Amino acid sequence: MAQTADLAQQRAPAPGGQPPAPSTPPAGHPPALPNYPRARIPTKPVLSRASFRRAAGHTPSILDTREARLVTSGRVAIALALRQMGVGPGDRVLVPSYHCASMIEPVVWLGATPVFYRIHADTQVNLEDVAAKLAGAKVLLATNYFGFPQNLTALRAFCDQHGLMLLEDCAHCFLGEHNGQPVGSFGDYAIASTMKFFPIYEGGCLVSARHSLAPVRLEAGGFKFEAKMAVNALEDGFEYQRLRTVQRLLALPLGLKNFLLGQLKRRSHGAPAAMAPRSSEGGFGFDPAWLHKRGSLFSRMMLRLVSRSRMGALRRRHYQRLQDALAGLPGCRPLHAALPERVYPWVFPLYVDLPETVFASLKNDGVPIVRFAEYLWQGVDATVCSASVDLSRHVLQFPCHQELQEQELDWMIDKIKAALLAARAP
Ligand SMILES: *Cc1c(COP(=O)(O)O)cnc(C)c1O
Repeated sequence: MAQTADLAQQRAPAPGGQPPAPSTPPAGHPPALPNYPRARIPTKPVLSRASFRRAAGHTPSILDTREARLVTSGRVAIALALRQMGVGPGDRVLVPSYHCASMIEPVVWLGATPVFYRIHADTQVNLEDVAAKLAGAKVLLATNYFGFPQNLTALRAFCDQHGLMLLEDCAHCFLGEHNGQPVGSFGDYAIASTMKFFPIYEGGCLVSARHSLAPVRLEAGGFKFEAKMAVNALEDGFEYQRLRTVQRLLALPLGLKNFLLGQLKRRSHGAPAAMAPRSSEGGFGFDPAWLHKRGSLFSRMMLRLVSRSRMGALRRRHYQRLQDALAGLPGCRPLHAALPERVYPWVFPLYVDLPETVFASLKNDGVPIVRFAEYLWQGVDATVCSASVDLSRHVLQFPCHQELQEQELDWMIDKIKAALLAARAP
């Protein structure tokens, strides 16, 4: 476990200074900055016995579409989708100004040009701006931010009208529907980052409600990959005191595993062992070596075993708890005034007036914070989209996932309240 922490620290960008190049800082995943302690409660879902509890009912999800390809990350799924849409060198892909680099890297890797369009302050796509940038564009990539769907009916109609293909980015929106249709069913293709929603170490998926996925063929990652992915997911559970019984039973095999990994590392002299996709380790980079690799058996099993209804219900409940506790506090406002029916949030986005002060204070307390789009692609500034720059700076996101325990939520809320009040004190 100490090993996990060390790895996270090595990958983190230097504090203070200039934002590093897009491919180095941590992704929209838990940022682990060198000077801050590890988060005291899990930033993303960790495995526990409760993960397998069932809940009644059906919750719509991106996997309701008839075909899916389970891969190792959302960015790989973006690359595969763009390929299926025939995107290659010289093509233009419309991408949002509010983004993380892992959404843009696959576009660039394919030799295409990302064209950044504006979004509104509520994160909805600015279709007027898209209309002004259509020349030569083949694909519109649209993101359902934080679990709140875009006006997908309007986006679909717009794309049909202009002969564009729609790639629906459901990395934050594994669950949910819009106008009675599941998310992911509006795009020609849709992608998700399953590792953001399930207690797994790697995972993304590609679906299509409109095209056959037959041409997308995947190969197995191999035994070492399978073993490492299972062990890593278990370790995340152990780190936050879940799975105590399993931990005791596995103590010996894990000791053996750490020894073997140590040996391997020593032999490879720090060269990256290709056993785990870097996409799982907090980077933005795109590694084509994982393009045609199937997600691990462990992750695929979790996608079957973990109840989506429980996940959806708890995410809504935790989100509402945060909303009730934080709305009306000075120096902040929830990005969304309300939680609409059939929305199952990824995180709780809070607009904070003094983000740097509040962020530093909370990180020092070990409060988990996600900062999606903390670093925008080079050249994307207020002249391109002032709303994106504003959101990028001011919106901090707090976890509301299904594996948070009641007392962990209470603790987090107390800390957030205290930090907001302290930031205002003269
Ligand atoms: C995380 C993320 C991705 C990429 O997903 P990975 O699984 O990390 O590759 C794509 N789009 C958005 C909006 C994301 O937040």
